[in-house]
Amino acid sequence: STRFKNITVLGTGVLGSQIIFQTAYSGFDVVAYDVADDAIAKLPARWEQLSGYYTHDLGSTPEQLSAAVGRIRATTDLADAVKDADLVIEAVPESIAIKHDTYTKLSQLAPEKTVFASNSSTLLLSDMVSAVNRPEKFVALHFANNIWRQNIAEVMGHEGTDPEVYEELVRFAEAIGMEPIRVLKEQPGYVLNSLLVPLLNSAAGLLIKGVADYKTIDFTWRKATGAPLGPFMIFDIVGMMTPYHLAMARAENDPGQAAWANYLKENFIDQGKLGRATGEGFYKY
Ligand code: NAD
Repeated sequence: STRFKNITVLGTGVLGSQIIFQTAYSGFDVVAYDVADDAIAKLPARWEQLSGYYTHDLGSTPEQLSAAVGRIRATTDLADAVKDADLVIEAVPESIAIKHDTYTKLSQLAPEKTVFASNSSTLLLSDMVSAVNRPEKFVALHFANNIWRQNIAEVMGHEGTDPEVYEELVRFAEAIGMEPIRVLKEQPGYVLNSLLVPLLNSAAGLLIKGVADYKTIDFTWRKATGAPLGPFMIFDIVGMMTPYHLAMARAENDPGQAAWANYLKENFIDQGKLGRATGEGFYKY
């Protein structure tokens, strides 16, 4: 069990909205904070979409789902959002400038008791800790997209994290239905993306070089390892935009990444085939 009762989530985008909903569904009172009024205005539609997934995937009842929504309060006032928070989970955009600005303000506004957890995928706590006034209460809590189903939470500290705070985050992750993954050292990509990103990059490289077609690559991986999904099936789930942005960021120094970005743009993005969510990516759904 956890001593955290009041949870605040900063950022109500793709991941923030899932964290808010899953936490409320697990019985916690949650404050949802976003800078953007239109992000807050979209929340009822987010809850409706997530309720559909929970019904389908978890067999949740309408009563459970409306109780979850009833435990969520939304605001664009940061001071109000964090005034009584035991735990703040930060899911603002993956930009060092936005993270620094957010932690600077949060440090001033949050009561002393508040623990800060970051859901950042690529920035390390060490990159952000200079803006935090309580480094011992700063931990990474990294979810995988579709958190109700892909329910792992990677818990990772930095050098200055209090081990007791780390353990509290592990217990909190369990309390909201996650399988906590203990990441014992700071590691870019945590465990999951340290495994997944090289696999996906290698698959893209084989395809771009013409070594094998995507079906052959997926078949090889699935047949030989027993994995249910091949790398291009995973690309379809992730969607084409994230790999495209990552490839573009590296394109200048890496011709392979430039070719991959170009391939994704011409064959998928320009045609609106963004993966499973749009009905078609490498495969049709
Ligand atoms: P997103 O763009 O969908 O949502 C970001 C939200 O933050 C938006 O609603 C935006 O209005 C809001 N925002 C912008 N500036 C803000 C500020 N200063 N304060 C509060 N809110 C602000 O992004 P996302 O995909 O949900 O990613 C959020 C974080 O979660 C990132 O650190 C990302 O690395 C991490 N993450 C994403 C995924 C994923 O699959 N998308 C998975 C794990 C972790």
